[in-house]
Amino acid sequence: MFAFVSRVTTLQEFKKFTLFLDISSAKSSSQILSSPAKIAFLDRDGVLNVDHSYVYLPDQFEWMPQAQEAIKWLSDQDYKVVIATNQSGVGRGLYSEADVVSLGEWMQGQLLTIGAKIDAIYFCPHHPDDAVGMYKIDCDCRKPKPGMLLRGLQEFRAQPGDCFFLGDKKTDMEAAEAAGITGVLYVGGSVLDAVRRVARTHR
Ligand SMILES: [Mg+2]
Ligand SMILES: [Zn+2]
Repeated sequence: MFAFVSRVTTLQEFKKFTLFLDISSAKSSSQILSSPAKIAFLDRDGVLNVDHSYVYLPDQFEWMPQAQEAIKWLSDQDYKVVIATNQSGVGRGLYSEADVVSLGEWMQGQLLTIGAKIDAIYFCPHHPDDAVGMYKIDCDCRKPKPGMLLRGLQEFRAQPGDCFFLGDKKTDMEAAEAAGITGVLYVGGSVLDAVRRVARTHR
């Protein structure tokens, strides 16, 4: 699993401010500085791209309608955008973890052209039965298990109540529920419209 996350600048800024504000009270500094993160967790296959089964090359990647615009809109609303995707194709030997990472980088490149970005991509390469070697395990990250969502909550220091998970399968909804996050079923159409609807009712 990997993440496109850089916190260095934020952390330095944070230290500077904390030093300055320590004189008054730690409480006020934390109130000023840490507006709690909210996360839009997104499934990949079937939500961001058409699920052609075991997609791992840019050639096979077909964006869903207004999926890129949806990511841009979420960032503009101060959501962290985190992908949580099962990629058992790795465990099955159909493609490698490096392929999943490369495709993620290619997606970032596409998004950059419209000023959007993904904050992190988590993927599960395992499968309990149909996988080889080290990938054949009953892991905690393969949805419907909530491992990837819990990791996102932890890494971005977000509360479950401030987050949602947009997925196209029952297993996505089960993972969301297990993590205490609102699960939203995507049933097709504009992804931008879907996330706008969620965000409106959500907070
Ligand atoms: Mg899916
Ligand atoms: Zn896993």
